[in-house]
Amino acid sequence: APLINIKDISFEYEQTKALENISLKVEEGDFLAILGPNGSGKSTLLKIMLGLIKPTQGSIELFGVDAKNFKHREWVGYVSQKSNSFNSGFPATVEEVVAGGLAKKSGLFHRLPKDYKALVHQALVAVGMESFSGRSVSELSGGQQQRIFIARALVAKPKVLILDEPTVGIDHQNVQSFYNMLASLNRDQNITLVLVTHDVDTVTDKITHVACLNQTIHFHGFKDQLHTMSD
Ligand code: ADP
Ligand code: ADP
Repeated sequence: APLINIKDISFEYEQTKALENISLKVEEGDFLAILGPNGSGKSTLLKIMLGLIKPTQGSIELFGVDAKNFKHREWVGYVSQKSNSFNSGFPATVEEVVAGGLAKKSGLFHRLPKDYKALVHQALVAVGMESFSGRSVSELSGGQQQRIFIARALVAKPKVLILDEPTVGIDHQNVQSFYNMLASLNRDQNITLVLVTHDVDTVTDKITHVACLNQTIHFHGFKDQLHTMSD
């Protein structure tokens, strides 16, 4: 079964039609970019994929199971756009932030597994940030912070990782190396990736599938299609 199967969904807020008759399949191993301008429904679609809101019409299956009966939320990792603007007043280190992705709530306490340092290290290696583990997150660049939040999601070993506008805080000259890192997660760690972005120019040939929200089209083999879209 597809990891995510969105079947003809629509979503309406009180006044606004945010999504109309969207169908989309995410298969294991895909690196999918969902493109669309601001207001085209990208965040709404992600919230539906994450089970935070229910479609007004249509249905969604996760790993072959209707979303309302799906029990393995930890298989679907998420890096929100808000993570980007992380700027807490306290000096959280990279290691602390990434370890947060492993914390299990137990009463008042958040408990970490015994081997958390090794797991955090693995996740930092996967995003190319292992030499930063003792650094304060608030001192890092936007792109470095984004990698730390990806590591925080990865440490919980998701099968799919959903990224909301991941390149927003990244300097233009660093976007390619950021996408190279994502491609290595996709290829070498077998993580299925879904990202949404309004920025067509940042999308590279690392991406295997493109869905375009304002046109409701799902492209396969995107390179030629991308020209059509930006015309
Ligand atoms: P995007 O993420 O592509 O910018 P959104 O999913 O945030 O798009 O929004 C899609 C449409 O739905 C927009 O017209 C937006 O104004 C509207 N919208 C989003 N969230 C709400 C909400 N909570 N209440 C009412 N309208 C909303
Ligand atoms: P994001 O796209 O990262 O969710 P936004 O600034 O678009 O950030 O939206 C922030 C929050 O406001 C979201 O939860 C969204 O659903 C809600 N929102 C967006 N547009 C509207 C709207 N027109 N009316 C009410 N709430 C909205």
